[in-house]
Amino acid sequence: MMKLTERPEKIILEILEKAGYEAYFAGGCVRECFSGETAGAGDIDIATNALPEEVKKTFGGWKTVDTGIAHGTVTVIMPEDRGRAEITTYRSDGVYGDCRHPDKVEFIGSLKEDLRRRDFTMNAMAMDIRGRLEDPFGGRDDIKGKTVRAVGDAGERFREDGLRIMRAVRFSSVLGFSLEEKTERAAFENRKLLSRISAERLFSEFRKTVTGKDAGKAVRKYTDIIGVFMPELEAMKGFDQRSRYHRYDVLEHCIRAMEAVETTEKNREYMKLAALLHDIGKPQTYCHEDLGRGHFQGHGEKGGEMVKILLRRMKVDAFTTERVSLLVRNHDLMFHRNERLIKELMRKFTPGILLEILAVKKADNIATGNASGPLLEKFDEVGRMIEEITAGGDCYSLDQMALKGDDIKAIGVKEGPLVGRLLEELLEKVIDGELPNEKSSLTEAAQGLYKALKQ
Ligand code: ATP
Ligand code: MG
Repeated sequence: MMKLTERPEKIILEILEKAGYEAYFAGGCVRECFSGETAGAGDIDIATNALPEEVKKTFGGWKTVDTGIAHGTVTVIMPEDRGRAEITTYRSDGVYGDCRHPDKVEFIGSLKEDLRRRDFTMNAMAMDIRGRLEDPFGGRDDIKGKTVRAVGDAGERFREDGLRIMRAVRFSSVLGFSLEEKTERAAFENRKLLSRISAERLFSEFRKTVTGKDAGKAVRKYTDIIGVFMPELEAMKGFDQRSRYHRYDVLEHCIRAMEAVETTEKNREYMKLAALLHDIGKPQTYCHEDLGRGHFQGHGEKGGEMVKILLRRMKVDAFTTERVSLLVRNHDLMFHRNERLIKELMRKFTPGILLEILAVKKADNIATGNASGPLLEKFDEVGRMIEEITAGGDCYSLDQMALKGDDIKAIGVKEGPLVGRLLEELLEKVIDGELPNEKSSLTEAAQGLYKALKQ
């Protein structure tokens, strides 16, 4: 990872120093130097004793953005966007009357006082251009000890800004750290404060939490905290499935699915969400027969609806909401090693989404604690078949058919629903292997079908 003192943004600090001000790298980018976080290219935050107006004057020739001018933050963008940084004037935060924003901030002259307002010791460090570390609260030791520790009294700090509770949960997941005892106790005690925090801020922490390397541990341990804004999760906790297929309660099963699900860089976040929420519909669809065995008729369907409501409430973007809901709704899809059936499913869902449903299904099975080797192998083989069909260019959708609507019209069929019906019937035959995907044979078959219909 690139050292902070080798980053192009270093020049921003040099310019501030030359102009007679103090300037330090601060916050997350300093933490990353010691925590082994791979992100590396995280935002650069700079703390300075220059006032916002002075910062803007100093960088008069460069582009600056008033990112949060009232809170002392100006973004400076280097020419040709070779680097950028958020420069914030040393400040102390007043009271957080609404538990979210400081009512008023006060610009101050001391770096140490600025570090004191920050949430955790690991985020309360600063470094100058010579690589000298300012670490008044022992952040470096806490990183070594893998500890999330509030700066000062944890309870007070959480009451100033409740979001910090969820930030602590997020850092424990992403970094694989534990919450220091008093910090953890205060997080639990003050968790109800989260009900006053905006959905956007909460979910931006939660989405990082589920993709963290210790996501399972964090969700398991802090269910009661997350449950304040996601009661759906709390309802899954301790819910006995009364099924010989399952070893775990609904929540533990879902956490294990989240841990097990295979993802790519691109789909990680929504796949983790889908796996964690895949049985969200179970508590509400439960009924049991005389022998005491549990059933959850329609829990996928119900779950898909619940996910939509949940994610909309959390103000999550439409794409993520729709995709997670679709994956949850279909997580019980049946897969067989049968090319024709697989093509039907590829047609219905598209290959990409079908592979995602398959991945959730596999994770679901692993997470029962009872999955057999042959079953898991079957999923892998179905996955390979989907990829082979895609790579081989086999026809499974109308787009790929060698015959188009215009060709149907050319044999004398009038514009209307019949055109589509004929195409669908021909596609069925191509998928079934009854017809090759060739224009001449398809045209002939279309003429035959049309003639039969007319009689
Ligand atoms: P990441 O960028 O990965 O989210 P980060 O630590 O950089 O992590 P930011 O939200 O970018 O987090 O904030 C930058 C710094 O500002 C933090 O390192 C911390 O020092 C301080 N900070 C951010 N949010 C809070 C908060 N709610 N309370 C106190 N300090 C905060
Ligand atoms: Mg940051």
